Amino acid sequence: MSDSENAAGQLASQQNASQKNASQQQNRQNTLGLKIGLGEDVHALVEGRKLIVGGVEIPFEKGLLGHSDADVLAHAVADAILGAARLGDIGKLFPDTSEKWAGADSMNLLSIAAARVREAGYEILDIDSVLTAQRPKISPYRDQMRQNLAHAMGIDVACVGVKATTSEHLGFEGREEGMSARAVALLQKVH
Ligand SMILES: [Zn+2]
Repeated sequence: MSDSENAAGQLASQQNASQKNASQQQNRQNTLGLKIGLGEDVHALVEGRKLIVGGVEIPFEKGLLGHSDADVLAHAVADAILGAARLGDIGKLFPDTSEKWAGADSMNLLSIAAARVREAGYEILDIDSVLTAQRPKISPYRDQMRQNLAHAMGIDVACVGVKATTSEHLGFEGREEGMSARAVALLQKVH
């Protein structure tokens, strides 16, 4: 056998080994059936709107602007679960061109998104989220937000995290022109 034949033989056996590793990895992935999703949302803060975050109406001089109730935290969570199930995002599910969703309660939108995720064969295992807002203070409402989000998705409140942070007066959140939210979701394919 020439050196080049020998080298070609080694390469082929390496490729076989790496294909075998890849299929073993895929088998492990399929066994666990875990999926992660990330959601992010932003809404402007304006006068003359109610401030609704995580399904809680918070007394404040401004509220979030949007086609629905503009619940920035609920939207980020909905996008996280839809993303993990590879079902697109809430813009696709609830188009803002549709009158049907005008002024909609985002807890209903989140319930519908969770139902779609279950129809696709996934269970929602865990959620964490963070709201970025300069004002008002969110901590008094945090547990109620967790309960509302958990209830809307039909999961235990222990499986929903909500954190809040200011942006140290930096950016649009810091100037109180808007709020943003991010969420991650862990799903498991169960059927
Ligand atoms: Zn939104």
